[in-house]
Amino acid sequence: MASEPFRGQKRKREHHHHHSKGGTNPHVNVIQKLDGKITTQGGPQSKSTLQESHSKGGRINQREKAKSLQAVREQLPIWRSRKDIREALDQNDVLILSGETGSGKSTQVPQFLLESQWCKGQIAITQPRRVAAISLARRVAAEMGTTLGSSSPASRVGYSVRFDNSTSPAMRVKYLTEGMLLQELLRDPWLKNYSIVVVDEVHERSINVDLILGFLRRIVTGEAQGEGKREKRLKVVIMSATVDVESFVEFFQTGFRKIEEQQKQEAADEEEDNYSESSWSGISTSEDEKAPLQKDNSIPVNGNVTKALLRFKNKPRDKSDYITINGKVINLVPDRSKSQQKEPCLGQPNGQNEEYRTLDTKHVATCFIKGRQYPVQVFYMPEPTNDFLESSLTAVFQIHYGEPLPGDILVFLTGQDTVEALQKSVEDHATGMAPEMPKILVLPLFAALSPAQQAQVFLPAHGYTRKVILATNIAETSLTIPGIRYVIDTGKAKAKHFHNGLGLESLLVKTISQSSAIQRKGRAGREMPGKCWRLYTEQGYQEMEKTGQPEILRCDLSSALLVMKARGVDDVINFPLMNPPRRDGIENGLLHLLTLGALTERGVISSIGIQMSRLPLLPSLARVIVEGARNDGEYLLEIIDIVAALTVENLFLNPATEEKREEADTARAELTRRQGDLLTFLATVRSYAAENANRKAWTEKRYISHRGMQNVMNVRKQLRSLCQQQKLLPPSSSLKFHDYDEGPLNVSEDISTSILKCFLKGFHANTARLMPDGSYKTFVGNHAVAIHPSSVLFGKKVEALMFVQFVFTNKSYARGVSAVQLNWIGDALDGGEIA
Ligand code: ADP
Ligand code: MG
Repeated sequence: MASEPFRGQKRKREHHHHHSKGGTNPHVNVIQKLDGKITTQGGPQSKSTLQESHSKGGRINQREKAKSLQAVREQLPIWRSRKDIREALDQNDVLILSGETGSGKSTQVPQFLLESQWCKGQIAITQPRRVAAISLARRVAAEMGTTLGSSSPASRVGYSVRFDNSTSPAMRVKYLTEGMLLQELLRDPWLKNYSIVVVDEVHERSINVDLILGFLRRIVTGEAQGEGKREKRLKVVIMSATVDVESFVEFFQTGFRKIEEQQKQEAADEEEDNYSESSWSGISTSEDEKAPLQKDNSIPVNGNVTKALLRFKNKPRDKSDYITINGKVINLVPDRSKSQQKEPCLGQPNGQNEEYRTLDTKHVATCFIKGRQYPVQVFYMPEPTNDFLESSLTAVFQIHYGEPLPGDILVFLTGQDTVEALQKSVEDHATGMAPEMPKILVLPLFAALSPAQQAQVFLPAHGYTRKVILATNIAETSLTIPGIRYVIDTGKAKAKHFHNGLGLESLLVKTISQSSAIQRKGRAGREMPGKCWRLYTEQGYQEMEKTGQPEILRCDLSSALLVMKARGVDDVINFPLMNPPRRDGIENGLLHLLTLGALTERGVISSIGIQMSRLPLLPSLARVIVEGARNDGEYLLEIIDIVAALTVENLFLNPATEEKREEADTARAELTRRQGDLLTFLATVRSYAAENANRKAWTEKRYISHRGMQNVMNVRKQLRSLCQQQKLLPPSSSLKFHDYDEGPLNVSEDISTSILKCFLKGFHANTARLMPDGSYKTFVGNHAVAIHPSSVLFGKKVEALMFVQFVFTNKSYARGVSAVQLNWIGDALDGGEIA
């Protein structure tokens, strides 16, 4: 192994001053300022308590376990603030709660609020990632002494993540991913199931969180209009691991101000109307009897006014009290007292309640919880490294040899590829360790792993063993992984990047922001003082951006726009967003949706668009599925197999030596299709599914990832049942598996072509043609693009190609490539549905 990168270098101790500012915004009513104390010694959660909560066997009585966890809860920094948090929401609609990682936000806030007397419905807590939603739900179920999710109808805690829903009729607390809450908004636009929605980890500013904030603001302020409004107010809690709360406060205040101004305007109009009211009196209508609007003291409605003019849509108040005629608000109950008229238009209080106040009370409260963080010693590299995998490997063993047990290691890497590469090299090196050394257990943690695989990292290692967790940035904030004492931070993460000229999005490895670096470091000081090795120089740290850019400013907007359109937001330009993207980005996104057939030419969502929006997939993949479902869904099963394979990265392993690569090529030959990667995936999935003897051996022989194939099968199952629920696929009993008659590997030329044509419906923008010089240029933007070396078409020349993924390293690469014919591309652009 290379020299020790950290020897004799500058060491620096960082304290946690960055959290203490908590500045006040003069425009904001800071009604809560809550400071817990930093506990610097004798951490209250003893290791054994933490581990006990993970022990599977031994069926400790749920209540007993909850009782023992109660002591842990009471030691959390947030515990002493529980009353203030409840009161903040008794008096306000929105609470912005910032608190350091580990202070207890994600697990405790829902439990505190359950006791609020206005909280009769469910509590939703959103998470950016599946693994966090599931592990938090499990933890909170244990703390509350209840079973989890669907394991019993009496479970009071559940979760809902893509492809996995575990809920129960008695459920009160539900952890769900941001994507799932957006899905629920389709069915339930006013979120009537919930008394509170808690949006967690907002500092990450994923595009979904930005959309959720917009929808919540519309509901909570009354900006959203339409049928079926809530009767009870929705309460919203915004939680963040950083103290930057001002922009969130301002965002909600803007919404409330807008409505207040609107109401003042309406009140002024109303005065006028009341004044001219006499001109209506005495005119009777033939519809008097039928009209539900008529009450004893209501004014009669002019008989000539047709129903079409009775527009209730923008009506500010209770239906029975007001109507709008010719754009004017008509008061049907003119003798109500002035004070009653001043009641807010939003969510009428159902008669009695005093906790609902008029608009001049406060709307947004803020609250800061000081965390409990042990000191973390930071080490920088003396020189920048150009191989962070090599440096990580060195650092892992330097810690393993130099630092005492207990103390597990957490390494932050960029993605599945680097995680798996480092896993292999650490395991290889570990075999050469002296027998008296503690063992090393390497555990990968990235988004594409199944929940069961992800759950491994939370289990304590057995015996004389050190856990080394290799994670992507999914471990940066929301997760509590007990036992971590040493963090290795490569300073890199994959982030979405939108290539404007190309109109394509790709994932790029980028330098993280300082706030991410601080979060990563913080993972080492959760249970005891820790150490963090930064695989970059101190100057490198200084040069990092302070915070990351919100995802909405650097990604393809078509997905977000489809989310809005499908949820009834037609005026997307004025949808409330904290950082509105550029207008041309919005226009491009709309255009893309139009060419996908998701919108009509008038910009209204089409039936195809509605079907697409119900699938938890990118618009292009969703479009392919919807296309596959047309014509009796003849090829939909094949398409689902391919889409399932596309959701899993790196199915085909890349053997290290030339000799093994040849071996792999030979073994995979029967799966390889000259039409390209998509049909190769189909052959792979089908023949894996047909293998009944030993699937693991099957994958090993072909250098295919066994874990990956298991995930593909899982996603395939979920997609099938989702398509059945959406009536895109017939029920299981009448599914046609037409190519099974001829064996799983014999998909006919005709079927292959039809399948590729379905994919072109979603990916016509991802196409390139062969140039005379043998290179490929994209149709959109005329940009040079090369076939990725991992593709079965690598080095081949075809008339035109379609790709599902665009990767940019030092060169633009197309991945998931298929050979197509030029005239198919034109065909794909026609025949979108125009409703
Ligand atoms: P925050 O959201 O403020 O970062 P959490 O509510 O997630 O804090 O966690 C608070 C504390 O609860 C953790 O520091 C840890 O002590 C405990 N905890 C949370 N989840 C788990 C878990 N899965 N296993 C063990 N302890 C946990
Ligand atoms: Mg949290």
